[in-house]
Amino acid sequence: MSDDHANGFLKHDRWPIGYRDPRERVHDYREIYKPTWEEKQLQEQGERCMDCGVPTCMAGCPIGNIIPEWNDLVYRGNWRAALERLHATNNFPEFTGYTCPAPCEPACVLAYNNNPVTIKSIERAIVDKGWQEGWIMPQPPKTRSGHKVAIVGSGPAGLAAAQQLNRVGHEVTVYERDDAIGGLMTYGIPDFKFAKYQVARRVDQLKQEGILFQTNADVGVNIPFETLRGDFDAVCLAIGALKQRDVPLPGRELNGIMFAMEYLIQENRRQAQRPVENGTEAKGKNVIVLGGGDTGADCIATAHRQGARQVIQISINPQKPLERPEDNPWPELPWTYEKTYAQEEGGEEVFNVNTVAFVDDNDDGHVDYLSAERAEWTYDNNRKRIEKKIIEPDFKIPADLVLIAIGFAGAEADPFKETGIEIRKDGTIKVDANMMTDLPGVFAAGDANRGQSIVVWAIGEGRDVARCIDTYLMGASQLPRSLRTQNPPIGL
Ligand SMILES: Cc1cc2nc3c(=O)[nH]c(=O)nc-3n(C[C@H](O)[C@H](O)[C@H](O)COP(=O)(O)OP(=O)(O)OC[C@H]3O[C@@H](n4cnc5c(N)ncnc54)[C@H](O)[C@@H]3O)c2cc1C
Repeated sequence: MSDDHANGFLKHDRWPIGYRDPRERVHDYREIYKPTWEEKQLQEQGERCMDCGVPTCMAGCPIGNIIPEWNDLVYRGNWRAALERLHATNNFPEFTGYTCPAPCEPACVLAYNNNPVTIKSIERAIVDKGWQEGWIMPQPPKTRSGHKVAIVGSGPAGLAAAQQLNRVGHEVTVYERDDAIGGLMTYGIPDFKFAKYQVARRVDQLKQEGILFQTNADVGVNIPFETLRGDFDAVCLAIGALKQRDVPLPGRELNGIMFAMEYLIQENRRQAQRPVENGTEAKGKNVIVLGGGDTGADCIATAHRQGARQVIQISINPQKPLERPEDNPWPELPWTYEKTYAQEEGGEEVFNVNTVAFVDDNDDGHVDYLSAERAEWTYDNNRKRIEKKIIEPDFKIPADLVLIAIGFAGAEADPFKETGIEIRKDGTIKVDANMMTDLPGVFAAGDANRGQSIVVWAIGEGRDVARCIDTYLMGASQLPRSLRTQNPPIGL
């Protein structure tokens, strides 16, 4: 990059693609983001990039996207080259360009005392244009290696691993227990956050590249794991970290209390016109979302679209500070409060509230209210709660529908329990520095390895495990390393 746009940030303010008006979008299931953007807008935003000597943005990106290069290419209007640069480190830039919390942006040098470059918007614009122009085409391998690999799980980790391995000539089959491909991109993340045509066109690309898919294939349940081990030269478990974390409180068995994931998937299925058995909807109800995070936000937004009477999100922890704490300097990920897209659409957030019980007031077997207390906590150095001080005991919050969104407890690894694969204490699958489990030729990647995380990490893990599997099969690999900066696996 030359320095002819080193002062772009002085000429142009930050101007991301932005979101649709919350008052309008809350009534439909179309994506919450503005559907269109101007080339000039994004080129100016690319010009804001300073091509810093040390691009801290890249250190903030779990897959090491070469951000300054594609910012520059966009600024110069060389969109096709920008797309190639982007695809060099990220198989599915629209997955991240639409859904990523963009840890690269607070790590941008401009964020030190100015507004960071709109990296996420530029990424989205590059890949949007790539699809519009027909530049994203299947790239089947020229030759086949003769090796066969089974990928279990079709989330972003499994799909990225599949594409990488297929492109170096291995014959890849993806096994997915659901009736549709995509993992949480399809069943979990709401349609208004990520439209499912975006998954479908990638799956189509992967199929045309020669990857085989089997849905309704629950490995360890209706497809024996040992059959896969016998039929394939390597197996990768990319099964996510979908084991639900429950709240074992009095009244948990009452009707009207369910896991957030169950609720979100039902709405995904409705939107896809797939059958929903015994579905639950929030229309006219007092909805309580227990827990913050992405899952909680998605529940709030879904409940509003279904016509909930009231939505309250309960967090046991205090609200994060509005400014960075002193021990959280730039370019670390900021430990600060930000209103979620869902709260912008409505609802109330309450903090420091500890749920004590779910109560059925009229003995009809259905929850009527939450019994709660307001509490302050002391925390250890890892921000883990250790001691509680009650500020306000025993108050009631009306509830017709309670959605549990307090996180996940690792991979659903029960089907692999007796196989010799070791499960870590946190419920994730134990792998060595080469991402291999205790079983030779069996690998694990994505949330199954990291614990519940974000899409960009899953893609990075998929790319890394592909390189590990390729090395295992061939003795060496031409596949790129991901430029991960945190905990890089030694053997990569
Ligand atoms: C509600 C919600 C919203 C989120 N929103 C965002 C967001 O906005 N941005 C972001 O970056 N991240 C978000 N995340 C996190 C992100 O979706 C995950 O980190 C990512 O999808 C993990 O990818 P993965 O491939 O490892 O696993 P998953 O996407 O979980 O896919 C695992 C797949 O394996 C399948 N599977 C499991 N066991 C078997 C078996 N035995 N046989 C066959 N198949 C099996 C599952 O059915 C599933 O399809 C969200 C997560 C949730 C729960």
